[in-house]
Amino acid sequence: MTTDPGHTAPVNEPDVTLPSATYLSHPGSITATSLYIDGQWRAARDGGVREILDPADASVLTVVSEGTRADTEDAITAARRTFDAGDWRRTPAAERGRILDRVADLLQRDRHEIAVMESFDTGKTIEEGGIDVDDVTAVFRYYAGLADKDAGRIVATPEGIQSKVVYEPVGVCGMITPWNYPLLQLVWKVAPAMAAGNTMVIKPSEITPVTTAKLVELTTEAGAPAGVVNMVLGAGPEAGAPLSEHPDVDLVSFTGGLVTGRRIMAAASDTVKKIALELGGKNPNIIFPDVDLDTAVDYALNAAFFHSGQVCSAGARLIVHEDIHDEFTAELARRAEVIRIGRGQVEGVRCGPLVSAEHRAKVEKAVARGVEEGARVLVGGKRPDEPELQDGYFYRPTVFVDCDRSMDIVQTEVFGPVVTVERFRTEEEAIELGNDTDYGLSGGVWTDDAGRGERVAGGLRHGTVWVNDYGPYFPGAEWGGFGQSGVGRELGLAGLDEYREAKHIYRNLAPEPQRWFG
Ligand code: NAD
Repeated sequence: MTTDPGHTAPVNEPDVTLPSATYLSHPGSITATSLYIDGQWRAARDGGVREILDPADASVLTVVSEGTRADTEDAITAARRTFDAGDWRRTPAAERGRILDRVADLLQRDRHEIAVMESFDTGKTIEEGGIDVDDVTAVFRYYAGLADKDAGRIVATPEGIQSKVVYEPVGVCGMITPWNYPLLQLVWKVAPAMAAGNTMVIKPSEITPVTTAKLVELTTEAGAPAGVVNMVLGAGPEAGAPLSEHPDVDLVSFTGGLVTGRRIMAAASDTVKKIALELGGKNPNIIFPDVDLDTAVDYALNAAFFHSGQVCSAGARLIVHEDIHDEFTAELARRAEVIRIGRGQVEGVRCGPLVSAEHRAKVEKAVARGVEEGARVLVGGKRPDEPELQDGYFYRPTVFVDCDRSMDIVQTEVFGPVVTVERFRTEEEAIELGNDTDYGLSGGVWTDDAGRGERVAGGLRHGTVWVNDYGPYFPGAEWGGFGQSGVGRELGLAGLDEYREAKHIYRNLAPEPQRWFG
């Protein structure tokens, strides 16, 4: 393994040795990624590096450059210069669309390799990594198609006046992403931003940078000019903070935790940047008694434990009708107990490790607090006993019953494999409980009564509501949060609008003196 790539990163060559299929049994072979600024791969100015760990056994996967403010400022300068020079933003939108389409092709060409990288980096299964690659491919295709479809509109005017609204790119976009879906959350920003003609500086989570570097490489291979997509690596307060503070950044788009989101919002206010925030959630999943119990339990497991619950839209808050509560929770616990835990590269594993020791400690603290508050652990609530899982950051799927809305464990985002169960009696009570949260990202409702499904979906104050399902999204449907789950929307038409300025151009075809001032 390379130990100090910060000093040896070659110029203009991606310093990434990509894993192959044989890599599965040999997690020492990703070598360093580096910073990508103005079309050049380079080391951090101060030579800093960081070890990236495999969460399944705490071994070192790779060593990457660790940037500081100075590196991010370099990247902002490059993105600004590239934007102001105007070639990219004046490239015909159809050509930008073609580049996006090529990125989609390349993602599919390297699908397995990227799925493996994401699996090692985040702990998720390779199968989930592959689903992520397919999802982001679809997002690139969607924005490739939209790129040249809407140049603006003519506004109805009195005779002698022409009025049109045109769309222009916002400018230099800072993009800060989290560790749970490094590739997916990034592409929701990069694809529309490229389609609209912006330049960008990307800063992935410092603990999961691998597939971000790969995506940057693919955008270059697809034909994005130097300086359009720039990437810095490093800690949030160092490498990330300039993206919300620097006067040359026009927009900062952030996906991550609520506390960081507040910081970024405050920092961006000095320069009145445009902001887009995708924050956390504590998402209700409401189960009425008229459903098929087997199916509802099956989906509830997926909602709560997919990617070990490290999902912003996880259905971590079950709200179950009292008539089926006991039967439902008993079956949920029975199935949760036998979920296969292990490293994400092993066939048949369903739950990988949590992303870091630090994060598992937070989950354990939240569980201890739940017990203290009087919630009862029906299953889980501890690390697994298997000897082969002792080096990784594993945690058992956990079901809490005897919960009520006043508890921290019900209100606070745990972001781990932990689900709480509350009871309800009436439809109104279910909606009221579902809305009793500071967040408002997503929720689910299960019922065989179509009218009730519509009423509850309409009553929930959340950005996405699934009826008789949980989790899917479409590139064409907006994603984002009510309440403290965020500001703005990603995906869909609104996801493109985040990266465009609307400009009104008014033309008087035959100006005559007005004599207002005599
Ligand atoms: P985090 O807030 O700790 O970090 C997110 C990113 O912000 C990282 O890249 C980090 O380095 C950076 N950062 C930290 N401090 C910063 C600062 N002062 N200035 C600039 N950047 C800074 O979040 P996380 O732990 O990586 O991710 C988990 C959180 O993300 C959860 O709360 C989850 O709900 C949320 N999330 C939301 C969505 C969504 O679509 N709403 C999707 C995925 C994750």
